[in-house]
Amino acid sequence: MSNKFVGAHTSAAGGVFNAIKNAEGIGAQAFALFTKNQRQWKAKPLDSEIIDTFKRMLDDSGILPKHVLPHDSYLINLGHPEMEKRQKSYDAFVDEVERCMLLGLDRLNFHPGSHLKKISEHDCLDAIAENMNRTLDVTEGVSLVIENTAGQGSNLGWRFEHLAHIIDKVEDKSRVGVCIDTCHMFTAGYDIRTKEAYDVTMTEFENIVGFQYLKGMHLNDSKPDLGSHVDRHQSIGKGKIGLEAFRYIMNDPRMDDIPLILETIDETIWPEEIKLLHSLEEV
Ligand SMILES: [Zn+2]
Ligand SMILES: [Zn+2]
Repeated sequence: MSNKFVGAHTSAAGGVFNAIKNAEGIGAQAFALFTKNQRQWKAKPLDSEIIDTFKRMLDDSGILPKHVLPHDSYLINLGHPEMEKRQKSYDAFVDEVERCMLLGLDRLNFHPGSHLKKISEHDCLDAIAENMNRTLDVTEGVSLVIENTAGQGSNLGWRFEHLAHIIDKVEDKSRVGVCIDTCHMFTAGYDIRTKEAYDVTMTEFENIVGFQYLKGMHLNDSKPDLGSHVDRHQSIGKGKIGLEAFRYIMNDPRMDDIPLILETIDETIWPEEIKLLHSLEEV
C-alpha cells in the first residue's frame, strides 16, 4: 500500500460532487476542485441536498477528506492595496472557507496575493496574514493552505521567506499550511532536477518554512525555464523539470499522506500520469 495520494484538479461542472466522480474515473486517490465558479465573485450557497450527496459520494469513493484540496477563486487578493477590494476579497474568502466546512473538508488552498506595485512586499504580506487571522476567527476546522507562486507580475509567495513571513504572523499555527507547486517552485528559481539540487531546495524549505506545514502539493512539470517567473504548466516528464524530480518526490516520506495534485495541461492523460508517478516509487 502506497503512502502517496495522487490525483488531479478535476471538474466540478454540474455540481461539486462531480469532482469526485471525475477523480474516480481517472484512478485518483486524491483530488482538487473549485467549490464555486473560480472566475466569479458570487455563488449560490450550497444546499443540503448537494452537501449530502457530496459527503455520501466521497465516503463511497474511499478518498479521505484530508486528501481533497479545494482551491479558492482566482479573483481573491487578500493583500490588495485598495481597502475596498481587500475587504471584498476577505468576504469572498470567508465564503470559500464556509463552503469547505459545509462539505466536511479540512483545508483550502489559495494564492497569497499581489501588491500590484502599490504597496511594499512587507505590507502586502502583513495584510494577507491579517486577513487570514480574521478568517480563522470566524470559521473552524479548515486550515488555510498558502500556495507558492511563480512570482509572475507582482504575485507574492514565490520565495520561501514570503511563506514564512505570513505563517509567522498567523496566530493559530494549527490552521495554516502551505502547498508547494513544483512548476511554480522551479520557475521561482528553486531547482529540483538533480538529487543534489532537490536536497538543497528541500533543506532550504525545511529551514525557512518547515515540513510540518506542508498540507499538499501540485505536481506539474514546467514549460518555462528555471527562474523565469512564468507560470506555464506541462505534463509530467515533458517539461523543463523532467521526470527525475518526480521520482525524488514519490520516494520522499515528507510527502506522505497529503494530496498530490496534477494540474498538468493534458487531462486526457491524467490516468497514465497517475500510474507513471506511482511507478516511480521504489518500494
Ligand atoms: Zn498550482
Ligand atoms: Zn500555475
